[in-house]
Amino acid sequence: MTRVIAPTLRRYRLLILFALIQACALTALGQNSVVIRVEVDASQASRNLLHTTVGIPVKPGPFSFFYPKWIPGEHSPTGPINDMVGLKLTANGKSIPWTRDPVEMFAFQCEVPPGASDLEVSFDNAAQPGTTMSARLARIKWNRLVVYPRGMNSDAVRVAAAIRLPVDWQFATALPVQRERRDEIEFKEVSLTELVDSPMMAGANFRKLTLASTPVLHEMDIAADSPAALDVKAETLQGWKSLVNEANALFGAHHYRSYHFLLTLSDVGGSEGLEHHESSEDGVGEKALSDPGQLIDLGDLLGHEYTHSWNGKFRRPADLTTPDFEPPMLGHLLWVYEGLTEYLGKVLPARSGLWTPENFRESIAAVAAEMDNQSGRNWRPLVDTATAVQFTYSSPRAWMNYRRRVDYYFEGLLLWMEADVIIRRQSRGKLSLDDFCRKFHGGPDTGPIVKTYTLDEIVKTLNDVTPYDWRGFLDDRVNRINQRAPLAGITHGGWKLVYNETPNEEVKFTEEQRKFMNLSYSIGLIVSNEGVVLDVNPELPAAKAGLAPGMKLVGVNGRAWSGEALREAIAATRKGPAPIHLRVDNGSFQDSYEVVYRGGERHPHLERDTTNSDVLSEIIKPRAR
Ligand SMILES: [Zn+2]
Repeated sequence: MTRVIAPTLRRYRLLILFALIQACALTALGQNSVVIRVEVDASQASRNLLHTTVGIPVKPGPFSFFYPKWIPGEHSPTGPINDMVGLKLTANGKSIPWTRDPVEMFAFQCEVPPGASDLEVSFDNAAQPGTTMSARLARIKWNRLVVYPRGMNSDAVRVAAAIRLPVDWQFATALPVQRERRDEIEFKEVSLTELVDSPMMAGANFRKLTLASTPVLHEMDIAADSPAALDVKAETLQGWKSLVNEANALFGAHHYRSYHFLLTLSDVGGSEGLEHHESSEDGVGEKALSDPGQLIDLGDLLGHEYTHSWNGKFRRPADLTTPDFEPPMLGHLLWVYEGLTEYLGKVLPARSGLWTPENFRESIAAVAAEMDNQSGRNWRPLVDTATAVQFTYSSPRAWMNYRRRVDYYFEGLLLWMEADVIIRRQSRGKLSLDDFCRKFHGGPDTGPIVKTYTLDEIVKTLNDVTPYDWRGFLDDRVNRINQRAPLAGITHGGWKLVYNETPNEEVKFTEEQRKFMNLSYSIGLIVSNEGVVLDVNPELPAAKAGLAPGMKLVGVNGRAWSGEALREAIAATRKGPAPIHLRVDNGSFQDSYEVVYRGGERHPHLERDTTNSDVLSEIIKPRAR
């Protein structure tokens, strides 16, 4: 192995060195920045195909360029390099050859011929069906449509972008428009950083709603697969307006020149949840504005991604802030970036009326139960789920309970809720996590700027609000193995996590959406509607009986498989001690299993505990005028 690896690594270092020399040379020539042209043809969007041509000023000689790899907000090397197809280079009107770096798959080299001053790089983004586009709408993510001189800071790369849309499609974006003519739009020159942070949404069925026009424009832009899907209930619109007011009341300042919610409604493409400084990509099902369950889910998504404009875009962990899209992002503080956002992303919909207090409590109960029942917490501290972000997002479903996944979202929520309750109790209700947010995320209104932070600043700001052993508090919950989830925010907040036979509303919605049954808190099993075991909790009866992911249930207590039969069998365990008999296919073999269990159905909820005052209800009270 070393015989192969050593020279490859040497070559890699040489190439990095070459890229750095190239970047330094541009600076030495007085070229602190470079202006590239990006022309996108999106007229074939309904075929999931976008064409782009990138014009880069160059000098004769070796030249290296880079396709964005580490995508902000995705925290991972997720640039869709496999979708970059049809790559062609032209200089002086002639085609020139290119090579890919043998180690860094996102880097390319070529030799610019004598006399050439401009390199034209063209390629297609052949997107996976069902991701960014449908037949009637598209998300245009500029990072998928651009290359830039390798090693250059993305602030120093200036981009003049233009796009051609399908005929009669409308669009929305935070990107400032220079000129608009029929289906062709030219944008003002911006940095590559801003371009990648300002995606565009376009579609045949389109609607724009102003949520606030002062002090700056806040707009809900909606593209849908059908005109009927664009209908917005009056109370939903009022809730969106309140969301803007509540967020601004919470943080006390904003860091954008205007804000666009880019909402797509489609069951086949455009599904998304990605934050930006001045916009968010929010993609849900076609009937999200009329279906009650989907509407509640949308409240969570909008609250989360909007919160990120403050927590994640404006204030960002220093190790997640990179000079361009090549250096790795380090995720160890994602329990702040995503965890605090997950918490505020549920508090804000409740404060703004998009959620009822009961929606909030059911959501918190679902999160608390899931985290408290992760068997992986016996081996894996929370911080490791964040440090390992490069692969935790794409974790397989099988053995997820044992593995843990992106728990920095949900357990992060619980620890920030606990911090909120501690501040409120210590200050006898005078202060709250809102005060932390105003100190940390507020200040004067600004445009889209980044202010980085480290753990020390988090601890210091918490102590500035309310003196407490915050370093010890966070170290214990983030870095240590804890058999139980941090539930003190719930218990000290005046509520208890309980389990009973009534389904949890949020869990039920997820079951319907994903077509599975979540029996995590009874026999410890998640099973598809067809009977395929998706996951087990190794410490609970189903796994102890021998069941494992990938097996298929074909019979329950002597009858053919059905989800109803299994639910009835579990419910019946309350009446008698008999085990549940399961017939199971394991590949081409069939076996019987006996699940020893007698607890009946168990679903999580929060129940009021009157021995403590009701802090949770205080947390979700509206605070905007
Ligand atoms: Zn997020």
